[in-house]
Amino acid sequence: MAKKKICIIGGGISGTSLGYNLSLYDDADVTLYEKDRIGGGTTSKSAGTVCLFDDSLDNRYFDVRLYGFETYLKMEKEKPGSAGFDQTGTLVCATSEKEVLRIKAGIALAKSAGYTGEYITDKARIREILPMLDTEPILGAGYTKDDGYFDGTMISNNFAGKMQANGGKIISGVKVTKVTVEDGQATGIETSDGKSESYDVVIDCTGPWSRFTGELVGLDVPIWHTKAEAFFIAPPEKMDFVFPILKYPAFYALRAGENVFICKSHLSMDLDNPEHAGQWNPDHLPERGGTDDYFIEFLYEQMEKDVPGLVDGGLSSSWLSYRAETRDFLPIIGDTPVKNYLLATGYGGNGIIEAPAVSRDLAKYIMRGESTLLLEEWAFPRLWKK
Ligand SMILES: Cc1cc2nc3c(=O)[nH]c(=O)nc-3n(C[C@H](O)[C@H](O)[C@H](O)COP(=O)(O)OP(=O)(O)OC[C@H]3O[C@@H](n4cnc5c(N)ncnc54)[C@H](O)[C@@H]3O)c2cc1C
Repeated sequence: MAKKKICIIGGGISGTSLGYNLSLYDDADVTLYEKDRIGGGTTSKSAGTVCLFDDSLDNRYFDVRLYGFETYLKMEKEKPGSAGFDQTGTLVCATSEKEVLRIKAGIALAKSAGYTGEYITDKARIREILPMLDTEPILGAGYTKDDGYFDGTMISNNFAGKMQANGGKIISGVKVTKVTVEDGQATGIETSDGKSESYDVVIDCTGPWSRFTGELVGLDVPIWHTKAEAFFIAPPEKMDFVFPILKYPAFYALRAGENVFICKSHLSMDLDNPEHAGQWNPDHLPERGGTDDYFIEFLYEQMEKDVPGLVDGGLSSSWLSYRAETRDFLPIIGDTPVKNYLLATGYGGNGIIEAPAVSRDLAKYIMRGESTLLLEEWAFPRLWKK
């Protein structure tokens, strides 16, 4: 039987997890092109948190969250250190009754999957977990010890290695410069090293670059870039406790070695506010720095109110990256108006969480034509009909 020739553009978490899942089909012949380094794009700037309950992804998609978490746990177990897991646990603070209900439902879901979770209203107990917190403004907090954050670049390289072990090909340092379209159908690509190759299917996994790659087939990919500005604070005092992933609706914080990483949350970004979002060229992002005063001022205001123990910390470094967001903050997965040109992009602030479940389903769709409820919900037509 002739194998299906599949081209993946982009070697971040999206492209590598899809490449690995496709390589599990013996009738798939997969090649992934990465113009730079595997896991070196947005994925390398990620906080990599995959929490059992927080507000980054609705409880409706708990199975997506759980599948991502357990995929990486197994990766870590298979080859210790390969997913960069730091089990810090998560503390999610509730500032409204609505959040109390959401957190409690998240705890119930985590427990039903066999993990720990508790809703705490005893403020002294909350301060035992995170002494730097001002517990006055919060109603309570959800806490689990079981989760933490992973390393997106390590995971991507791990997926890439597994894909190659299954016969998939990775071509890095080579940019896809053209996608050939005949009779409204993608038929192959041309690359920066002057080569061309025909393919049965091309999947655009280029995250914030997909506006540009989409143009190669005349597609207006409806994503915006939100500024993901990460700041690393050196705490005023040595932390003699495990700093958990700390989640508030407007921002989050986590341990990064001796420092604390803080960032404005992706769901608090307004796509119509030019301070938050726009459409820019990710190739112009600096390796470090490039941040705006607006974000650090916003975050220090939050710290003053919620985590006063961190306010006097010095800023040790920062970086700017772009999240690829759609209008509903959910990704765009699957078919496009150009036949055989598919998208797996727009993961926004949740790519590490979402990529494993999406890639599993999308690989099956590409290889067997069988869709899933998840793929139907996250398909392109919901955005072009609006
Ligand atoms: C500060 C920050 C914190 C985050 N925190 C979290 C978190 O805690 N949890 C979570 O789940 N998610 C988080 N995210 C989101 C997550 O990191 C992203 O959703 C995810 O990394 C996007 O992956 P991607 O593969 O779609 O894009 P990318 O990682 O950007 O990969 C796209 C790749 O395509 C390549 N490319 C582009 N054009 C071409 C071309 N023409 N030819 C060949 N290659 C090309 C690029 O070089 C790049 O490597 C965070 C993001 C940021 C920035």
